Amino acid sequence: MLKSICPVLLLCLFSTHLSFAGEFRAGAAIGDITPTSWPVYLVGSFSERPADRAWDPLSARALVLDDGQTRIAIVVVDSCLIPRSLFDEAKQRAAEATGIRTDHMLMSATHTHSAPASLNRIMAESSEEYLKVLKDGIVQAVVQANSNLEPARFGWGQIDIPEHVHNRRWYMKPGGIVPNPFGETTDKVRMNPPRGSGLLDRPAGPVDPQLSFISVQSADGRPIGLLANYSLHYVGGVLPGGVSADYFGEFGNQIRDRIVGDAETGDDPPFVGIMSNGTSGDVNNINFRDPQPRKEPFEQIRYVAADVAEKVWQAYQKTEHSDSVSLAMAQQELTLGLRRPTEEQLARARKFLAEPDEKKLPVRAKSYAKFALELAERPATEDIILQAIRIGDVGIAAIPCEVFAEIGLNIKTQSPLSPSFTIELANGWYRYLPTPRQRELGGYETWMGTNILEKQASEKIKKVVLELLHDVAHESATASASREE
Ligand SMILES: [Zn+2]
Repeated sequence: MLKSICPVLLLCLFSTHLSFAGEFRAGAAIGDITPTSWPVYLVGSFSERPADRAWDPLSARALVLDDGQTRIAIVVVDSCLIPRSLFDEAKQRAAEATGIRTDHMLMSATHTHSAPASLNRIMAESSEEYLKVLKDGIVQAVVQANSNLEPARFGWGQIDIPEHVHNRRWYMKPGGIVPNPFGETTDKVRMNPPRGSGLLDRPAGPVDPQLSFISVQSADGRPIGLLANYSLHYVGGVLPGGVSADYFGEFGNQIRDRIVGDAETGDDPPFVGIMSNGTSGDVNNINFRDPQPRKEPFEQIRYVAADVAEKVWQAYQKTEHSDSVSLAMAQQELTLGLRRPTEEQLARARKFLAEPDEKKLPVRAKSYAKFALELAERPATEDIILQAIRIGDVGIAAIPCEVFAEIGLNIKTQSPLSPSFTIELANGWYRYLPTPRQRELGGYETWMGTNILEKQASEKIKKVVLELLHDVAHESATASASREE
């Protein structure tokens, strides 16, 4: 397969990780996780949202890669958030069926806000029936991708697509900060301020405009799958009355149309296009400076997905693929402290919950009062899973939170692997992950309840993730072979 690529180029592309492992193989598959009975209750908002239809299918999309010594699975699930316990169970079942180690599986949620609850939330109870559909679909995707493994080649690309990402936390001019659910006006920034407002000052943080993708093709060049990573919270937001995979699912369709539509080599097993969420905890698709109304949500979803897919397609056509690829994956658990409400905060929460007339309370006061009581009951610490993967020279980090863009940018700059990117909402969900400085600025993502981890959490997570990226960067094929035994 290598004869078509110039040997000099090959040397530069793969100089750091020339593979001495066995044959590189890849497989991809989709598991259907669309609800089978209705209604379901959608997660991702503060009001009850029943849904009685699917606007489009929900999927678990899996990629399994093997270099002859190490086998890994990456799964991206059309869900708003998935707790560690559910992923742990799915990994265990997938491991029993395939022999892939559970610590060689990265499973993440896309963050579509129009998916059924995967755990009990204030406004959305999960149903046992749907949880079964969800777990079965995830396991089935891994099992099928594993049995689709075939000799393959690998390529990657990166492009900047700044036009769809906007930081959603803003410094406001005097009068622009509204009271928080605790009745305080101490926030220094405001999440999702009114568009085109004269009170907008400046965004409180950066965006990461970079889209990264990895591609696998069969040995004879048939497209197997493409996994993209872009730091955009979602596009459609809260969609009415039905489930939807938002732009994440639509990107899969759009990139598939472009890549397979042009392929002369057929499409069996079916090509799988995947959009994973990058570090988008504070980044959404609203241009706050622009007072014009946005497109209708489904139109906006199609518009963003088509534009992003077109740009990936352009880059994809110039992507070199190589069959000389080695893999490494490392996982570590990190114990982090949880925020604890003070006696004063608990007393206020109880007072808010006892108030029969909600109009007398700050907006969302009761929801946050419930969060405070819930936090007081939880253990003082949580063990979270952090991971790093190396595929050839590409580094992938995995963090189980809604991660602020600045953290992802730091990881990209400090990672020993280039390119690198981070998949958020992976292997669990511990709500928003702001930097300590952003925590001090206040705003929705930092309120106790939407943020539950200790103030230094992002620094501790970043340190471990970078160590893991160093581990996989330096792990030679021989070392990974002995570790597998
Ligand atoms: Zn969110």
